[in-house]
Amino acid sequence: MCRLRFVMEHSGPSDIRGGVAAAVGSVQLAKAVLSRKQLSDFPEDEFSGQEHKVNIIDLSRNSLSSIPGTISVYTNLIELDISNNRISGIPDEIVALKHLRSLICKNNQFETNSLPKDFGKCVSLETVNFSGNTMLDFPMQLTEIQTLKAAYLGGNRIRQIPTAIQNLQRLERLYLGGNQLTSIPLELGSLPRLACLVLSDNRIETVPSELVNLRSLKSLSLHNNRITTLPPQIISLGDLCELSLRGNPLVVRFVRDFTWQPPSLLELAGRAIKNRGIAYTAEDLPLSLIDYLDSARHCLNPKCSGVYFSSRVEHIKFVDFCGKYRLPLMQYLCSPSCTSSSSGNYSSSSYTSSSDTESDEEAAVPSNKMKKVLLG
Ligand SMILES: [Zn+2]
Repeated sequence: MCRLRFVMEHSGPSDIRGGVAAAVGSVQLAKAVLSRKQLSDFPEDEFSGQEHKVNIIDLSRNSLSSIPGTISVYTNLIELDISNNRISGIPDEIVALKHLRSLICKNNQFETNSLPKDFGKCVSLETVNFSGNTMLDFPMQLTEIQTLKAAYLGGNRIRQIPTAIQNLQRLERLYLGGNQLTSIPLELGSLPRLACLVLSDNRIETVPSELVNLRSLKSLSLHNNRITTLPPQIISLGDLCELSLRGNPLVVRFVRDFTWQPPSLLELAGRAIKNRGIAYTAEDLPLSLIDYLDSARHCLNPKCSGVYFSSRVEHIKFVDFCGKYRLPLMQYLCSPSCTSSSSGNYSSSSYTSSSDTESDEEAAVPSNKMKKVLLG
């Protein structure tokens, strides 16, 4: 058995990683460095009687296949790194570690059900890293951890982000690159502190406009997906300074949409009521019609004051970013002809050609806003 090191370290920011350093400040931390020791079993007796003094355990790059339930005797453990082993499960007793803030489990054999049922009761966890495992689903227990600030789940086989993601109101970093996601739930737009969102290398086709509510978002990685257009609201993300879009089939030319279905009589009547500002009350109309009328949406053509219900025209608007990039943004208009009677540059070439005319509607984005757009 190899001799293990048990070192007392001053926890300057260079000594320990990420959130732990910030959270712990300058307290003396006991760090058990057991990385690359060719261990095949957890060294249970190594710190006999002193387990409560250990704050950090690094067991990365060994040959461990499990972590014993006796991990709970390390009552003051703050960080546990078991990366690059062959571990396929975490014992239920991990929940007893009330000070555990960082759990690093990348490159193991974790599946979705590898986490304890009560894992959501880890009361101090701020960072979890399950990248490089074989999870098919997003572990629902994570959505119960109110203290979570960073979740690294890249390089798994996750197919869906649960709507319960919105429970993670303190989440700042979410890494889900290299999975099998096909969509983004609207609820992902409900995370007020999210600053870094990585969804690259998936199969995502559309980006919901709700992401515009991510007011803290600084970096958005969407490269290598199946995205053709972006919601126009994305340019109003004030703090966004990095947007990665390469490897997407982004529409590069205006393509007229021929799937326009003429409005139904119901829609025409609804449009007339809304466009003329005709008043209605619950005494005049059945509730279902009132709901219908309330569902009217404004045409996005700034020269048109009309509304639409279900009959709409998709319009791709190209926006110039920093004079270098033209991003295709998706908009909906009330009809193919809604601009024909209006004036101004909005009505000219953007609708009249179905071939290779690029839209002339360019809302230049100040160069200080979007610092880095990766397209090519
Ligand atoms: Zn219109």
